[in-house]
Amino acid sequence: MGPRDISRRTFIKYGIAAAEAMALRLEASAALSEPSAPSYATAHRAARPTRIDTHGHTVSGLTADRVISLMDQVGISHMVLMARGPNDWLTAEIYRQYPQRILPFVSSMYRAWHRQDERVLPYTENQLSTGRFRGVGEVMLRYYGIPSKHEPEINVPADSPFMKKLGDIVEKHNAVMLVHMEPEAEAIESLENLLNHNKKLKLIWAHIGTVARVGLRTIGHADMGALMDRHPNLYTDIAGVQPTSLAPPACLRRPPITDDRGKLLPRFRELLEKHSDRVLFGLDTPWKECWAQEPFKRWVEWADNVVAQLADSGIAERVMHKNAERIFSL
Ligand SMILES: [Zn+2]
Repeated sequence: MGPRDISRRTFIKYGIAAAEAMALRLEASAALSEPSAPSYATAHRAARPTRIDTHGHTVSGLTADRVISLMDQVGISHMVLMARGPNDWLTAEIYRQYPQRILPFVSSMYRAWHRQDERVLPYTENQLSTGRFRGVGEVMLRYYGIPSKHEPEINVPADSPFMKKLGDIVEKHNAVMLVHMEPEAEAIESLENLLNHNKKLKLIWAHIGTVARVGLRTIGHADMGALMDRHPNLYTDIAGVQPTSLAPPACLRRPPITDDRGKLLPRFRELLEKHSDRVLFGLDTPWKECWAQEPFKRWVEWADNVVAQLADSGIAERVMHKNAERIFSL
């Protein structure tokens, strides 16, 4: 399936205004009459942005063909990939095979990063200098860890000297930083300090201000809208906040932003509509089980349904791909 087929399906799913849909249908039928290219050529042709998943993870054993085949099945044109562990070589290999579809991030998901080992900074700078890597992530600032997965609790202040240096490196290379942070008051304060330290740094605080289930009663969700009002360089995503019925339990550990039938909760609707220029679509696939075909399909259907509930189709377009096109200069 070529990129144009993906976009046709996208627009049908968004349920946009009739006139627009008609124009796109005409465009799509013109595309269908083009002679079909061999599959390798299709894969390397510049992909037309449709859905851009800004929060994907490279897990060990993942192959480039697996990634692209799933992306094609669900209509994702581009995907950010962040390795779990020091596996940037694997992300780079997937990118090498499908450079038009993959947005590789330098991985920060291993111990040297959690203990702020400064040696990762020149390494990151080198990787960004190659021009292949588009960002750094997922930077684990405040993370509770999953005991059954033998994960440690992580606490890295966003305004530490290490993080400020990292922020400056990322900004200098016009790249993007994606962070994970449970919204504890102290953590939020340090994040604001980092955002003030470098106002040109493009920072995505993942998971739309939600708190992991374990912290729901004690700290609650962040007032992301107020933070975004104060910091024009702050972005967020809708990754990992689907109802648990949609995916294997390991992939979803946060309270969902919709009810079980997919209806958006009012506070998140307000945030998506008010800050539609800085909210990004993402799935969040840090475990092998998250890469199964069925969850993938259901997640994307869920996200389509989320954006279809928003005030107008322009918002849907921004969240699903236009904001990502802008920050990644696609
Ligand atoms: Zn993630």
